[in-house]
Amino acid sequence: MTRALTHYTGRNITFATMHGKEQLARGAFRRILGATVAAPPGLDTDQFGTLAGDIPRILTPRDAAHAKARLGMQIARSPYGLASEGSFSGSSGPLVEQREILLFIDDDLGLELIEGTLTTSPLPGGCTITTPVRAREFARALGFPSQGVVLHSAQDGHMIAHKDFTQLDELQATAEALLASGSAVIVQPDYRAHRAPSRADIIRTLCNQMAKRLATECPNCHAPGFGRVDVEHGLPCSDCGAATQVIAADLHGCCECSHRTRIPRTHLRAEPAWCDYCNP
Ligand SMILES: [Zn+2]
Ligand SMILES: [Zn+2]
Repeated sequence: MTRALTHYTGRNITFATMHGKEQLARGAFRRILGATVAAPPGLDTDQFGTLAGDIPRILTPRDAAHAKARLGMQIARSPYGLASEGSFSGSSGPLVEQREILLFIDDDLGLELIEGTLTTSPLPGGCTITTPVRAREFARALGFPSQGVVLHSAQDGHMIAHKDFTQLDELQATAEALLASGSAVIVQPDYRAHRAPSRADIIRTLCNQMAKRLATECPNCHAPGFGRVDVEHGLPCSDCGAATQVIAADLHGCCECSHRTRIPRTHLRAEPAWCDYCNP
């Protein structure tokens, strides 16, 4: 089988990650684009904030992904950069909303593309524990050690995250020591991609989407990266025909020229439940 030549065939793309996310992009980027993906050496992405919350994140997810990708490109001296950024909301309740974005930069062409997703995480939020055995039970229920667990201790308003446990005994002993010292202790899933297989799957899917997008040329100017740039709301109500807020079509566009195409969604009518007239 001969591989179609794309704009990125033979190029090396830098994924700004310190925990092996480049492995989640490699397969799709090689298969779809003929490109290689590598992580820059000695990169510290924790400076942009951590998912465990011990280093607060000040930037928006997009700005953080942008800053990480730029730093990776600078270290690797590459014009092509990738970075991903996840955020988890409501991490104290049972339902955790997970947003994930993957950003790609091409300095040669001046492209900056985003693929993103919003899902309900299969991982629960954190919970306060009062006995060390609870940390063990929490970890076992999540599928530890392939799914990691983080302990947070708080004392005098100062929070410390304890990570990278590989043994249940070690986790329980740390919880025991923290509780004995009088700290409040919270146990929480480790959301980092190399310790959260469900998150790694989402990033792998986004990498696949991004590779496909980079293989898609603009029908007008042939620049790579043609794909969804916006959505059009206003799907008509099935009862009265008024425009609703439901998405009617995806708008695909080019980063280099002004070419746009409109791709209608499969539903032609919206449920009256979404209509401001039928269901105000
Ligand atoms: Zn209506
Ligand atoms: Zn174009």
